[in-house]
Amino acid sequence: MTATRVLVLNSGSSSVKYQLLDMRDSSRLANGLVERIGEQSSRLRHTPLATGGGSREWTGPIADHDAALKAVAEELAKDGLGLDSPELAAIGHRVVHGGKHFTEPTVIDDAVLAEIERLIPVAPLHNPANLTGIRTATALRPDLPQVAVFDTAFHTTMPEAAARYAIDVETADAHRVRRYGFHGTSHAYVSRATAKLLGKAPEEVNVIVLHLGNGASASAVEKGRCVDTSMGLTPLEGLVMGTRSGDTDPAVIFHLARVGEMSIDEIDTLLNKKSGLIGLCGDNDMREIRRRIDEGDERAKLAFDIYIHRLKKYIGAYYAVLGHVDAVAFTAGVGENAAPVREAAVAGLGSLGLAVDDELNTVRGDEPRLISPAGARVAVAVVPTDEELEIATQTYALVKR
Ligand code: AMP
Repeated sequence: MTATRVLVLNSGSSSVKYQLLDMRDSSRLANGLVERIGEQSSRLRHTPLATGGGSREWTGPIADHDAALKAVAEELAKDGLGLDSPELAAIGHRVVHGGKHFTEPTVIDDAVLAEIERLIPVAPLHNPANLTGIRTATALRPDLPQVAVFDTAFHTTMPEAAARYAIDVETADAHRVRRYGFHGTSHAYVSRATAKLLGKAPEEVNVIVLHLGNGASASAVEKGRCVDTSMGLTPLEGLVMGTRSGDTDPAVIFHLARVGEMSIDEIDTLLNKKSGLIGLCGDNDMREIRRRIDEGDERAKLAFDIYIHRLKKYIGAYYAVLGHVDAVAFTAGVGENAAPVREAAVAGLGSLGLAVDDELNTVRGDEPRLISPAGARVAVAVVPTDEELEIATQTYALVKR
């Protein structure tokens, strides 16, 4: 029997998201989520898509990632999709930080684990959780290939001019301070899907990808290769996000430490968790912000305007970086769903060939689609991202025989 299934695992500090796919036709067999691992009220939600059955939910204490993955394995087994199945070809792990070293998806061995561990200082929130997921899955199926798919890999093609900060080179290199970029799996998938939508090969087009979710990043993709992206050493740089500030003057940090007497940890929390949309207006859900704006709420309007202003600056910057742009693609929760964000982001950019058609912009759907007027110089598109499919595709390509 040929093994054609891939389990995709996205392990966070207190959660595990998973999806089981059959790579013969990229169909989803099951997906689910374990949340609040380590608490009394952990929750598992499992949807057996293959059998068409409804979601099953379970609440109770799940002590650690090991217990979480065992619970997931039990749920899968109930539908004949257990992790012991000979049809399972590999487990693909989302790993947030692969540094400069990992430019491709990689079959995990001891040396790979050690390198992911060495990168913990630059990804203290994410890499430890990803490592726990890998170790737990390996213990369950030691014979199975475990593949790491890195969020940073797509951005390793950035030229030094884009990847380096203008700080002392020796200091930067000693501490691995450079711009790595994140959401790479999404930027890779969406830039390719945008080329396909235009009827072209990825090597034939230049695309600006705007991944606007709760975390948000932009990338400039030249002929299929990333040449710049808005996130940097960590996911804090760049666009205004749900709870992250994006770009600020680094001196804001010294000022808050010296004058505001805040600790480094307090400033870290401020900029990563209490800034962006939530810091500006108290809400980080774009639906709620739009609702408040419709009711005349000034703070929500200001938050929206700051969000759009930053987004527009990055569109302009990446237009200049690429020189010629074939398409601008909106993706992720906000990018795929919020027509007013798309409209406002390109408003006034007609002289760059950028515009949206009001009617096309409000059409909803799950498929990639154009929202620019017919005959527009630059295509503007909505391209739903699919990070799980991309991780599964990259994983399967590496292990299939
Ligand atoms: P993501 O991180 O890609 O899952 O995106 C999550 C974010 O997408 C939420 O915080 C919302 O701000 C936004 N979002 C989701 N659905 C909608 C919608 N229908 N309209 C506007 N924003 C949405």
